[in-house]
Amino acid sequence: MPSFIKEQVTSVTHWNDTLFSFTTSRDPSFRFKNGHFIMMGLELEGRPLMRAYSIASANYEDELEFFSIKVQDGPLTSQLQKIVVGDEILLSKKPTGTLLQENLLPGRNLYLLSTGTGLAPFMSIIKDPEIYEQYEHIVLVHGVRYASELAYQTTIEQELPNNEFFGYEVRNKLIYYPSVTREKHTNNGRITELMLSEKLNRDIGLPSFSVEHDRFMLCGSTAMLKDCGKILDNLGFKEARHGDQGHYVIERAFVG
Ligand SMILES: Cc1cc2nc3c(=O)[nH]c(=O)nc-3n(C[C@H](O)[C@H](O)[C@H](O)COP(=O)(O)OP(=O)(O)OC[C@H]3O[C@@H](n4cnc5c(N)ncnc54)[C@H](O)[C@@H]3O)c2cc1C
Repeated sequence: MPSFIKEQVTSVTHWNDTLFSFTTSRDPSFRFKNGHFIMMGLELEGRPLMRAYSIASANYEDELEFFSIKVQDGPLTSQLQKIVVGDEILLSKKPTGTLLQENLLPGRNLYLLSTGTGLAPFMSIIKDPEIYEQYEHIVLVHGVRYASELAYQTTIEQELPNNEFFGYEVRNKLIYYPSVTREKHTNNGRITELMLSEKLNRDIGLPSFSVEHDRFMLCGSTAMLKDCGKILDNLGFKEARHGDQGHYVIERAFVG
């Protein structure tokens, strides 16, 4: 399979019954931008089975990281969830995607709105020191059904604020807002409701959304993207399209 890069699994973390993440070796010649996705998969019965995956690690890290759903009858993830250290995964050579800071007009606050595994590209972005130079606040919203789906909390709340190079920026600028819909938690409610009621803004102490100052990246289900996109459109925000910068960008976390 010459068109794919092979990498070795170096660690696996199972968050719960439906989510896991893993790291792999990284060919030093493999380059990507924080926020990109790539085709990733396994060789099954002698053939590559590939799916789109956001890269959850930052582009300066030695290893690659992926955050994955476990779909019990899913062609890829029914097998992928069984990987162990030392197994081989396949990667395409061409990372791509729209969740790039360069697609946004300059602004003051960057809102990263995600549901489920839609968190993955934002894990890469919040590890990017440059993003902290561009904005006064980075607001990471992660919407899930159950609290057990709130992966990466230790990284977000403890490791990044203590990073020796940009921990100071993270402590001053990163606002993490997890929200749970199906059980009681510190924050409850769907992202759309939190936006419409402005509970999100009140809880984090930032003003109502403004076209002048706020920028958004959205990654989640088709329904979430459609509903959040509509809210932003109604407020006068414009999606970045066809190479033109805009006030927000979207990426599907999965098809369906
Ligand atoms: C641009 C893009 C980036 C993606 N990034 C990721 C990622 O970082 N992590 C990840 O786990 N998946 C991601 N996906 C989804 C991924 O491509 C696969 O669909 C997923 O790995 C399941 O593969 P499968 O073969 O097991 O099942 P599939 O046949 O692909 O899907 C089976 C069913 O599961 C649902 N489903 C698939 N993926 C998800 C998901 N992530 N969350 C909830 N429901 C899902 C589908 O809607 C479908 O109904 C991404 C998809 C796109 C288009």
